[in-house]
Amino acid sequence: MTDTNCIFCKIVSGEIPGPRVFEDDVCVAFNDIEPQAPTHILIVPREHLASLDKAAEEHASVLGHLLLTAADIARSKGFSEPGYRIVINTNVDGGQTVFHLHIHLLAGRPFVFPPG
Ligand code: AMP
Ligand code: ZN
Repeated sequence: MTDTNCIFCKIVSGEIPGPRVFEDDVCVAFNDIEPQAPTHILIVPREHLASLDKAAEEHASVLGHLLLTAADIARSKGFSEPGYRIVINTNVDGGQTVFHLHIHLLAGRPFVFPPG
């Protein structure tokens, strides 16, 4: 499923071209256009899903795959030992601005908790 008005669907399809950090048949990972850390990568499912709030049991394997992919990317870039931050902003109060589910992988500096 694709949403023709969705910017991340356009990145997934290649309509908006750009370098990819990683891709497979389930997901695509690319650098955030407005990085909030020295490394800031977005991991998105190829399938359009508006937010985590819209996920159901049928999405369990995709969600698991996104998280494992984020960990793989972090490991491959040497962030396992220093650590990193995974974020899934969900709906308006969660700070979500692009309504195609995505995981933020932030690394390369320390992060505080709770976040703002
Ligand atoms: P969120 O606020 O969690 O919905 O995150 C959306 C993220 O997408 C923000 O960090 C934006 O900087 C990023 N973003 C928006 N448009 C693009 C784009 N064309 N390429 C890469 N990242 C983008
Ligand atoms: Zn989409």
